[in-house]
Amino acid sequence: MSALLSTHGLIAGYGDMRALHGIDLRVDPGETVALIGANGAGKSTLLRAIMGLLPVAPDMIRLDGKPVGGSAPHRMVREGLAIVPEGRRLFTGMSVEENLRVASEHAADPVAEPWTLERVYALFPILKEKARISVENLSGGQQQMVSIGRALLAQPRLLLCDEISLGLAPKVVREIYAALPEISANGTALVLVEQDVGLAQRASQRLYCLLEGRVTLHGQSGEIARDAISAAYFGAS
Ligand code: ATP
Repeated sequence: MSALLSTHGLIAGYGDMRALHGIDLRVDPGETVALIGANGAGKSTLLRAIMGLLPVAPDMIRLDGKPVGGSAPHRMVREGLAIVPEGRRLFTGMSVEENLRVASEHAADPVAEPWTLERVYALFPILKEKARISVENLSGGQQQMVSIGRALLAQPRLLLCDEISLGLAPKVVREIYAALPEISANGTALVLVEQDVGLAQRASQRLYCLLEGRVTLHGQSGEIARDAISAAYFGAS
């Protein structure tokens, strides 16, 4: 199968500070890939670079085999990428429904069944009840659901999720993760940046571990031993 998205020796950073030192990543159509690593390993930077939010050489990121590195974020959205950013970044002062509708304006061509407001409400029923409520009055978990729903309404082929479980109660995390298979069933590939390694392993088919801007381990999620993950996560001493 040819890759949906691949990165090739991807280098990115902030000004003179290099955060990624040559990342090779591959995501196939419809698959779920987890990205783990300690704070500061470069996970968010990798998602931002893929999304077009950081300057990158064209050949370092390929979508359907075509070089797209450094393309503007709105172009990446049109090509079928969407991000659930760290910290959710919702539009405060706007209702749940207004936040959800924003994404449809720049949507890509739908994958299989297009995402609609009704489908997002079926995925997260609480959002229908709260449709007219301003987002700052929602719980953290509900805000995360809005952030995911908003990204889905951009009709992504590839959804990049940055720590969607962060700061949420275990019950809410389970609820959000339970929605992911339905997103995959629509043909959407997922990249999950996740601090909880067990959760990352269970939710994905393949896993990459980053350490200080480099991939220290990758493989089939179900086959990687815990001690190999620990060594890759913390660095072999
Ligand atoms: P976390 O779990 O803390 O989000 P991460 O693996 O996502 O960690 P990044 O946020 O990608 O890591 O950070 C990688 C490196 O880039 C770190 O050294 C961090 O301090 C630095 N960095 C991240 N964002 C910026 C920024 N906006 N400006 C300058 N340096 C940054």
